[in-house]
Amino acid sequence: MKPLGLYLHIPFCVRKCAYCDFVSYPGRQDDIPRYLDALAQEFDWYRERGLFDVYAVQTVFVGGGTPSLAAEPLAAFFERFQETLLMNAVEVTVETNPGTIGLPGLQRLFQAGCRRLSIGVQSFHDRELRTLGRIHSAHDAEMCIEAARAAGFLNLSLDLMFGIPGSTLANWEQTVQRALDFAPEHISAYNLTIEDETPFGRQQQDGTLRLPDEETQLAMYDAVIAMLTAAGYEQYEISNFARPGYRSQHNPIYWRNEEYLGLGAAAYSYLGGYRYWNEVLLDVYMHKCGELDSSRVTGAIHLELPYPSTVVGQETLNVEAMMGETVMMCLRLCEGLNLAWFQQRFGQAFTRVYAPQIARLTSDRLIELTPTHVRLTYRGLRLANDVLQHFLTLP
Ligand code: SF4
Repeated sequence: MKPLGLYLHIPFCVRKCAYCDFVSYPGRQDDIPRYLDALAQEFDWYRERGLFDVYAVQTVFVGGGTPSLAAEPLAAFFERFQETLLMNAVEVTVETNPGTIGLPGLQRLFQAGCRRLSIGVQSFHDRELRTLGRIHSAHDAEMCIEAARAAGFLNLSLDLMFGIPGSTLANWEQTVQRALDFAPEHISAYNLTIEDETPFGRQQQDGTLRLPDEETQLAMYDAVIAMLTAAGYEQYEISNFARPGYRSQHNPIYWRNEEYLGLGAAAYSYLGGYRYWNEVLLDVYMHKCGELDSSRVTGAIHLELPYPSTVVGQETLNVEAMMGETVMMCLRLCEGLNLAWFQQRFGQAFTRVYAPQIARLTSDRLIELTPTHVRLTYRGLRLANDVLQHFLTLP
């Protein structure tokens, strides 16, 4: 059986955060049970066509939105599809936002087979949380972490964010230190990015957004690397740190451009050489799932087209685009890109395909080439977004 990552998108939020351009629908929580039914119908569509006879689900990641708003129906979903979903899974993660779930909900998820939570803490400063438009306080985040431990979770990841408007290096160091006080197994530290179609994007356009300057943001990044490394965490990706043995198993599927199935409104999949994506609009997605029943077939496996009617677009990447994406994703990993793996996958040597980029970026000390790998230097890590762009197109 081939390995598969499964992503379930739960696009519900209490309200929209000021920086967020993810597909999520604030104030529609009443639709959660109906949505989970729709998700089950979509899952069944693939199951009945034998997808899971060919692919073994190795990791499950439930993201959003705010999946913790849907703890009970999600737990029921896990139980209903336990055999297909959890039999081979080495990691089952649910994104959890403080202030949206209590101990009973966390216990329910744990009982149903979820073993890892990714908790959206972002900051331990209430003022920063308000600036971001988060619905929770620092105290809510602390309560959520403690409740997760009490429910039995031994694998917690905390999401933190730096570069928040009005933040300082000292504030950020306090947030990182507070996170360390809880000894999570994993920490993701993201630099806030400003997306155009958000309140922050509009504030930036009219000149009212007060971000920490670039030097401070780089100092924040240096600080989190230094603090977490000193505390025994390994940095294994640009934004991700883990205690030994606790690296995420799901995200590397994306970073290595490997196969995954995404279910839910606006979810993306990459299967059989095709990338394809689902209907974004909540009501349309649920309606289409409701009609999947009538197209039910049983018997032989059909992984080729047609897709279920929930899919609204697809693309195949040519080999150049595939190589470029793979390089960009692998260079996010601290271990870098394995040269032998690249040769095996694409039948071409990385050093030959990207000779001009290698010459330029090594002389600028942004990447380094070893006999087995190419990876970002520390300098390259700090300027990763710019460096990675060089691999978008072939020379
Ligand atoms: S909780 Fe997450 S998905 Fe929802 S609006 Fe905020 S950042 Fe976006």
